[in-house]
Amino acid sequence: MSEQARVYGVPGLWKASSARVIDGRAIAAAERAAVAAGVEEFVAAHGRAPALATILIGEDPASAVYVAAKIRACAEVGIGSVHHHLPAGTPQAEVLALIDALNADPAVSGILCQLPVPDHLDGAGLTDRIDPAKDVDGLTVANAGRLALGLPGLRPCTPAGVMVLLARAGIDPAGRDAVVIGRSNLFGRPMARLLTAADATVTLCHRHTRDLAAACRRAEILIAAAGRPGLVGGDWIRPGATVIDVGINRVGGRLVGDVDFAAAARLAGAITPVPGGVGPMTIACLLGNTLEAAGAG
Ligand code: NAD
Repeated sequence: MSEQARVYGVPGLWKASSARVIDGRAIAAAERAAVAAGVEEFVAAHGRAPALATILIGEDPASAVYVAAKIRACAEVGIGSVHHHLPAGTPQAEVLALIDALNADPAVSGILCQLPVPDHLDGAGLTDRIDPAKDVDGLTVANAGRLALGLPGLRPCTPAGVMVLLARAGIDPAGRDAVVIGRSNLFGRPMARLLTAADATVTLCHRHTRDLAAACRRAEILIAAAGRPGLVGGDWIRPGATVIDVGINRVGGRLVGDVDFAAAARLAGAITPVPGGVGPMTIACLLGNTLEAAGAG
C-alpha cells in the first residue's frame, strides 16, 4: 500500500482522485519553521523567549492531550510555556484571579484557557477575562469585534489556519463564492469574516439552512465545519471547487471529516484530507499568534 493510502486507510483512493490534495502537514511544518525563525529574532532582540500560559481545569482526557500537544509544539519552536492545571472543582473567582495575574505578568506573551471547562464554570466569561493583547485563541469579545469591523487583532487559530492553507495552495478568495457550513464562534463565524475580508462573497450556512445542498453546489470555496460525518456528498461539489474539511469525527475508531472525501475528490479542484488537512494548521497558527502577541507586548 502506498504511504498515502496507508495513512488515510483507503487503498486506491488516490488513483480515483482528480483533485489536488492540500497537504496540511507540510504547510503547517513550513509555518512552524517560519515561527521558529521569528522566535530566534525575538530572543536576539529581547533576551527572552515568548511564553504561552496554558490553563487546564479538571481531568477531561481529550483536553489534556490537546494542551500537551500545544506545549510540545511551543517547545519545538523555542516558545516557553507555563502550565497551570487546576482541580475540576476550582471556583470561577479563582480562575479569574489566575487570569488577572497572567494578564499582569510581562513575561507571559499569550494565555490560553482550554475549553470546554467543567459545568459549574462559565467558559466564555473566563475566555473574555484574557487581555485581548494576550488572547492567542482570538476568542475574546474584543478580538471578535475587531475581526467583525475589519480591524487588526489576534484571529482564531483554526479559521486563520484555513486562510493560510488557501494562500499556500494558491487559491485567492477574492471575488469567489464561498460557503461555510457551521456558524460557531470558534470557527464558522470568524471563518466567514476572514473570507469576507479577503473579498469573497460568503454564504454562512447552519442547521436551519433550508437547502444546504443547493448552497454548496454554488460554492467555489466550500468549507465544512458542522461536525457531521459524511454530511457533504460528492453531488454537492461544484466541479473544480476548493473543498476544505474542518470536521473531526471519530467513526469506528477512525478520524473522518464532514466531507465524503473519495466522492468529493472526483469533482473538486483541490481538497483537504482528514486527518492531515486543517488539523495541523490550528497549532501552527497558535504558535504564530503567540509570537505576534509577544511582539505587541
Ligand atoms: P459546533 O458544534 O459549535 O457548531 C457546529 C455548527 O454546524 C453549528 O453552527 C450548526 O448549526 C452547524 N450544523 C450542524 N449540523 C448541521 C447540518 N446537518 N447542516 C448544516 N449545519 C449544521 O462545532 P465547531 O466547534 O464549530 O466544530 C465543528 C467541527 O469542526 C467539529 O467536527 C470539530 O471537531 C471541528 N473542528 C476542528 C478543528 C481543527 O483544528 N481541525 C478546530 C475546531 C473545530
